[in-house]
Amino acid sequence: MGRTHTAEVAVVGGGPSGLVAALALASSGTETVLFAPPPPGPDRRTTALLDGSVRVLEALGVWSELVGHAAPLRRLRIVDATRRLVRAPEVTFACGELGLDAFGHNIENEILRRVLREAAGKQAGVRIIDVGVEAVIPEVDGVALRAGDREERVALVAAADGRHSICRKAAGISMSRREFPQVALALNLRHSRPHQDISTEFHTESGPFTLVPLPGDRSSLVCVVTPDDADDLMARDDENLSREIERRAHSILGRMEVDGARGRFPLSVELARAFASQRITLVGEAGHLLPPIGAQGLNLGIRDAATVAELVADARRADEDIGGASLLGEFEARRREDVQSRALAVEAMNRSLLSDFLPIHALRGAGLSLFSRVGFLRRALMQQGLGPRDAVAPRLARGEAL
Ligand SMILES: Cc1cc2nc3c(=O)[nH]c(=O)nc-3n(C[C@H](O)[C@H](O)[C@H](O)COP(=O)(O)OP(=O)(O)OC[C@H]3O[C@@H](n4cnc5c(N)ncnc54)[C@H](O)[C@@H]3O)c2cc1C
Repeated sequence: MGRTHTAEVAVVGGGPSGLVAALALASSGTETVLFAPPPPGPDRRTTALLDGSVRVLEALGVWSELVGHAAPLRRLRIVDATRRLVRAPEVTFACGELGLDAFGHNIENEILRRVLREAAGKQAGVRIIDVGVEAVIPEVDGVALRAGDREERVALVAAADGRHSICRKAAGISMSRREFPQVALALNLRHSRPHQDISTEFHTESGPFTLVPLPGDRSSLVCVVTPDDADDLMARDDENLSREIERRAHSILGRMEVDGARGRFPLSVELARAFASQRITLVGEAGHLLPPIGAQGLNLGIRDAATVAELVADARRADEDIGGASLLGEFEARRREDVQSRALAVEAMNRSLLSDFLPIHALRGAGLSLFSRVGFLRRALMQQGLGPRDAVAPRLARGEAL
């Protein structure tokens, strides 16, 4: 640690990506200051934490506190509910084919954040400041951060301050942005039939309508629709909305009741043009915003967090500058392909549903038909969806300590 540094690393943002980053950094003894102001409001979303993310949380010792609040996802079913001329066959993917007990676990973001925040509060090596950062000033051998009347100076910043990140702006990094003519509606449901640990994705002409199990006879719904349809659904009372969702779900889970508030999210893909610069690394939505299709967003954020912590642990061991060009370059190299390939896949899937071009539907149908019949292709697709494995995955995602 430099003479004028107050900690080695600052994590900015107390969302799930930032909290995982702070826990991961401190797990290898890195002195970490975490800026985690109270969130602006409740987070209504749920997150399907895929297998690699669960391993990270296990390695950090927090999974045992989360698992009781999460529902396992053991089968993923895709149903073509379009009324198009060429339709795809129904395909079901089973986790057992990959030798897994579950593809992942679905949990409410509020619970995830609360448990992670409590763990960060108890973690040796993490000092929490519950005030937002107002100024970020990169310097030659460190970064100064001002929050209220406090000033911290660190060698490296893990910027997890979300989509409007001030750290990203301070690093001079801009975003590419592509908007889609769709809106995601997110809410939770109670239903009369058990989900049997199956997540079901109906493909519709306006985008996926995805039911993901929660503990008990409950599921979360992410429903991608046109802005007009979203206005109509948001304007309905709970009873009316419940009946409409049950209809769109083809009653597969029996009678449905909306449980709690609804969230509305415009759809876009936003990618940072660089993931690291000026001693600042981007973690989570500070670096990439993906549509809620295929459960990729936070799973990427957790891999960002695990990667920055691993690189810092290695640099400390080698007695190198933890905010130096070598670490920043390695972070960029390791995160670029993972983030970009998943953004492309999500975008391609979404566009194939929106397109009115018949050959695209024929291709999608033929592709799903192949996946339903050919085991090794199906396993390869499942593995792709879960994220990188083995040597290319961060050590924590392989269940190893730093
Ligand atoms: C409907 C929906 C469903 C989704 N489902 C899934 C899913 O199943 N699986 C999945 O992997 N992903 C999913 N996602 C994506 C996932 O929710 C996000 O990727 C994730 O919540 C982002 O977390 P984050 O910590 O990066 O950002 P945020 O949760 O936005 O956290 C940013 C934090 O930074 C703080 N902050 C902001 N400015 C400052 C500042 N100046 N100083 C200090 N702190 C600051 C904020 O208060 C906030 O707490 C979904 C998204 C949506 C919209």
